[in-house]
Amino acid sequence: PGTLYVVATPIGNLQDISSRAIQVLREVDLIASEDTRHTRKLLNHLSIQTSLTSYYREKEQHKARVLLEKLCQGQHIAIVSDAGTPGISDPGSVLVRLARDSGITVVPVPGPSALTTALSAAGLEESSFYFGGFPPAKKTVRKKLFQQLASLPCTLIFYESPHRIKECLADALAMLGNRQALLFRELTKLHEECLQGSLEEILDSLPGRVRGELVLIIRPDTITAEDRPENTADLLRWYRDTRGASL
Ligand code: SAM
Repeated sequence: PGTLYVVATPIGNLQDISSRAIQVLREVDLIASEDTRHTRKLLNHLSIQTSLTSYYREKEQHKARVLLEKLCQGQHIAIVSDAGTPGISDPGSVLVRLARDSGITVVPVPGPSALTTALSAAGLEESSFYFGGFPPAKKTVRKKLFQQLASLPCTLIFYESPHRIKECLADALAMLGNRQALLFRELTKLHEECLQGSLEEILDSLPGRVRGELVLIIRPDTITAEDRPENTADLLRWYRDTRGASL
């Protein structure tokens, strides 16, 4: 059988593609892509002529079976998303799981992800975080989620669309309190920026119309350095005892 490669592509700056990713994209028989027009531009930039087929969320189940068939016949296939790492708030997981369950070798070719890119530049001292992908679009469901997450003693990270970010920040403020946060915008691109401060300060400093791609990082409720237990089990216990939070 063939091999399935899960290939990360740039989230803005085309120079962030790895030389291994280029080699794999050049050598596989087929590239399964979220949006073939989008990926074609990247391949043209890299002078790669490998065939493309579409693989997007709405057809993920069906397309995964078609691609599995090709893998079983011996084709080597790479899966890419529009930007970043497939499977991280992007299609990919259905094919990866199907391939694994069928004994196909799955090889990750790591690279950019908005998640790790933002995290790497946030300067957090705690090592644990919760990644929530995109928060629910419905206000009531979103607020409920924030309420559930309020007792987690770790950093919270979300992707959010520019037209929903203000509502999201306001709900986070209401349910989590005025925590410290960072809002990364247009990472690796020309207009990259990071707003830093309390949720309220960030909300107040946003322009009328927000544009671009965003990653929101919300710090845990303040724990002073001398209070912070060393290991996770002690930390959870400490949090329950001092905050009365149900975990
Ligand atoms: N699979 C991708 C990854 O690994 O980062 C994420 C795909 S998800 C559909 C797209 C979201 O990721 C955007 O709405 C935004 O929240 C975040 N994102 C992607 N590129 C970004 C960038 N250059 N700067 C900030 N956020 C970005």
